[in-house]
Amino acid sequence: MLSWENLIGHAATIDYLKKNIAEEKFPHAVIFSGEEGVGKRLAAEICAAALLCENPIDGNPCGSCESCHLVAAKSHPDFYVVEAEETKTARNIKIGQIREMQAEASLIPINSARRVIIIDGAELMNKAAANCLLKTIEEPPSQTIFILLTTSRSSLLMTIRSRCMTINFDKLTASQIRDALISREVDAQEAERLAVIAGGSFGRALKLKDSGGIQIRETALDTLEKISRKEFSNEEIFKTGAEMSDWSRDKFSDFLTHVQKILRDICFAEILEPYNPDVAERLSKIKIPERKIFLMIEAGAEFHKRLKSNANLRLLAEAYLMKVKKIYQRGWQCGSIN
Ligand SMILES: [Zn+2]
Repeated sequence: MLSWENLIGHAATIDYLKKNIAEEKFPHAVIFSGEEGVGKRLAAEICAAALLCENPIDGNPCGSCESCHLVAAKSHPDFYVVEAEETKTARNIKIGQIREMQAEASLIPINSARRVIIIDGAELMNKAAANCLLKTIEEPPSQTIFILLTTSRSSLLMTIRSRCMTINFDKLTASQIRDALISREVDAQEAERLAVIAGGSFGRALKLKDSGGIQIRETALDTLEKISRKEFSNEEIFKTGAEMSDWSRDKFSDFLTHVQKILRDICFAEILEPYNPDVAERLSKIKIPERKIFLMIEAGAEFHKRLKSNANLRLLAEAYLMKVKKIYQRGWQCGSIN
């Protein structure tokens, strides 16, 4: 059942949302902004349950009425979710999806006094879709509440941002993530390690657990170790690229993120709290001059961007590995080599 007790962290935000629901002051259009996996979607679903519940208690859904059951089962007629459609090359929300939602929103709510619409991944709306949504938010159908979820508020149209109240969802602490993992019966030692590398996102910690994320970090670590020992032959780069071509784009994105965090740890070991304290000894043996680390981090950011285009994953992986290797071997002169 959807309950605030299931949301990890965000105590002040929960209090605020509950108060608004209880006092019937919930805004007509709101943006939940924060990183992937920090609880925005669950919070939005709990809000929907509480807003549609027949017997809400102080901003909490009762959990036992028909509405609560239907929202939890995602079959409530007054609860509508728009999500990005994913193809092999792109993820976005199309204008057709927004139009479909608008047709639904123009109807009178069926079971409840209001309708709740969640748009998950609002930054993934293309321009036409965003403009179409804007029209609805400017003149919202009465009794309709929009909850936009985004990992990148600044990517939304300014006109949409200005018409929505924004609620920020901060990153979770490592101990919050660790405790939540342990309560889901993850082994304490694994929970500790996952919590450290999840970067404040419980969703990421779960994904890492399920997708062998520790293994992805291991690949990232192994890659940098080989490069810094000059053991990464071009042949091996092409072999690794071929293996990575079977990965999802999300998995390659995780790999890039791990490389970035490891580089940051190597560079700032003595100043900043490390992302990967459990492998500090291995990291201390990777010797890369600071200047080259910055170039590598720049390259990682650039390839993260390219990953969002339609580029072929295998070519992208090979180009990235080749670039990092060249930066290590030749240093700053390679800043412009692709
Ligand atoms: Zn209820």
